[in-house]
Amino acid sequence: MMNNQELYQIAFIAVNHKKLRNLGTAGHVACALETMNGNVFTGICIDLPCSIGLCAEQSAIAEMVKHNETAIKKIIAVFEDGSILPPCGRCREFIAQMDDQNSQTKIVLPEMKEVLLQDLLPERWDSKWN
Ligand SMILES: [Zn+2]
Repeated sequence: MMNNQELYQIAFIAVNHKKLRNLGTAGHVACALETMNGNVFTGICIDLPCSIGLCAEQSAIAEMVKHNETAIKKIIAVFEDGSILPPCGRCREFIAQMDDQNSQTKIVLPEMKEVLLQDLLPERWDSKWN
């Protein structure tokens, strides 16, 4: 299993802030996740006008699913200034609905603190955590 610092470095390397047309931006947040199988995927955020876009976590998860995996061992998101960002509520739910095993996903928080997803979302609306 990758340690938090290794996963952080992979995410930070993926940060690549770019300006898009009409005040859109991308890549100022990047995410790295390690799957339960030990594979690592990255993604970047995209922010377009009218609140269209997606978080880096969702982008990394899409890449993971493209490779036929859904269970996440550990996930981290890094802002362009190097700070670690906790996942927003939508991303927490996105991770939860991806796979039942993701109750045990380790979320890396600022100062490399780790918390399980089930502790961030203790009361499920759809089904109880296993
Ligand atoms: Zn998010």
